[in-house]
Amino acid sequence: VTGHILIFQDVTELKTMRAAILRQEHLSAIGKLSAAIAHEIRNPLASISGSIEMLRMLLDPPEDERKLMEIVIREVDRLNTLIEDFLDYARPGQSRRISMATHEMVAETVRIFERDPTLGANIAVSLDESIGPRTEERIYADPAQMQQVLWNLLRNAAEAMRDGGTIIVRQSAHHDLRTDRNYVSLIVEDEGQGLPDEVLPNLFEPFFTTKNNGTGLGLATCHRIVVAHKGHLSASNRSEGGARFILSIPVDDTVQSRVASDS
Ligand code: ADP
Repeated sequence: VTGHILIFQDVTELKTMRAAILRQEHLSAIGKLSAAIAHEIRNPLASISGSIEMLRMLLDPPEDERKLMEIVIREVDRLNTLIEDFLDYARPGQSRRISMATHEMVAETVRIFERDPTLGANIAVSLDESIGPRTEERIYADPAQMQQVLWNLLRNAAEAMRDGGTIIVRQSAHHDLRTDRNYVSLIVEDEGQGLPDEVLPNLFEPFFTTKNNGTGLGLATCHRIVVAHKGHLSASNRSEGGARFILSIPVDDTVQSRVASDS
């Protein structure tokens, strides 16, 4: 024997990865189970609210009893919203991605949102096309999911402005040095109360809410959709007050390379 060769291998990363995979499998099993339970709760809820509605019509009850029935209907509605949101989060529908330009989707979503009857009369939405070049870049995304994310950001912005104000929606394109990719960003700014320090780290956590009737699933679902599109969703406070949410989705490279090879 003239010597020994000793080989040291750092297995920390491997072990961390294994633990992460196990945790992911565990979470996915819990997710599936809770989604199945939530789904099963929907049918009896529909029977409860349907029966109460029927009783209310048939019996024409006095004021006090009517109020109690209204409480049942309202609470069933609330549970339904929670379950719908939860199922949306736990079992996101199949993503149908296409190469799409964002400005039409944004303009249409803003148009529908402005006409939403539940939107307070003191809230305005301004689609700002003056800042930066109107982006013609295309992204590879599911238009319905992009609309869902934007809608959620608009709804949150409106709910944050109890005293009214203007929501500003902008679009821009930028190059990210870290990922070396081009992105299209949709920016939603509001004039609401802003994001307190204790809220910021929890924003995208499921079930985190500061609202009495919130489910805390809106931003968690948005975040999940955006990450599945290899994009980012970030939130910050504006120096002039209010919050700013930025949704960035990578530009559809296949279109870029097609253009490059055509020219
Ligand atoms: P929900 O709307 O049901 O509360 P979300 O996940 O959409 O659930 O939002 C989580 C929390 O993030 C809200 O309860 C609120 O505290 C905060 N938040 C979201 N958007 C804004 C905003 N534009 N301004 C201030 N706070 C916000």
